[in-house]
Amino acid sequence: MDPLSRARALVGAARRITVLTGAGISAESGIPTFRDALTGLWSRFRPEELATPEAFERDPKTVWEWYAWRRVAVAAAQPNAGHAALAALERWAAGFTLITQNVDGLHARAGSRNLIELHGNIARNRCAGEGCVLADDEAAPGSPPTCRRCGSCVRPDVVWFGEMLDPASLDRAFEAARDCDVFLSVGTSGLVEPAASLPFEALASGVSVIEVNPQPTPLSRRATLALAGPAGEMLPRLVP
Ligand code: NAD
Ligand code: ZN
Repeated sequence: MDPLSRARALVGAARRITVLTGAGISAESGIPTFRDALTGLWSRFRPEELATPEAFERDPKTVWEWYAWRRVAVAAAQPNAGHAALAALERWAAGFTLITQNVDGLHARAGSRNLIELHGNIARNRCAGEGCVLADDEAAPGSPPTCRRCGSCVRPDVVWFGEMLDPASLDRAFEAARDCDVFLSVGTSGLVEPAASLPFEALASGVSVIEVNPQPTPLSRRATLALAGPAGEMLPRLVP
């Protein structure tokens, strides 16, 4: 049997499915991954050097403006066939958890419900001093805006390189990786920890792991099956 038919058989026989997605699933919606070179205005920066607490400390204006630019791109983007297929898979499966590293909110817009946004959501802001999420009227305009309560800078509510993930979300994600019949790893380079460990946690628990990525990753050789193709083409073919 070819890999796609084997993947369809595994998914069709599964009761509980857990999925991990990365920036690759949103590439077909026109949102660049971090491995794609930045274009235009931002081509002289590397995302790994902008998405850090140190960068925000040093140069909050540049980091804020980079996020403002990404927010415009995210707001203009539409969920693609890959996002839609995962929402359809959730409606079909008896149990379903979607863990995403993406901050673009496209899974929720496509209709996914049981969603763990490990790295936060770019649409929200929080106070860099107090840590709490801020509504628009709690921030005074500026670049970056400032918190009206304490005067600290306002930052996007995302997890930057070198920052801790929410421990409760991480626990839920690892439990979902162990406690399923099939685990799908979609559009992630597998280089950013701790999310990169989730498919290996599933494998160690005897779960069948299917990777969807046009490029090989550290997971490809260890996965039960690796489907080398774009998420928007592969995922719709996996929905029973
Ligand atoms: P990554 O940029 O490291 O890797 C993207 C992966 O997607 C690559 O392996 C690439 O081969 C694959 N890919 C490219 N096009 C694809 C397609 N059409 N279908 C399937 N796969 C495809 O992304 P990552 O692993 O998510 O890690 C980078 C970090 O960057 C994450 O922490 C994430 O939060 C952040 N990020 C998020 C967004 C977003 O929210 N959309 C965008 C860029 C980066
Ligand atoms: Zn504050």
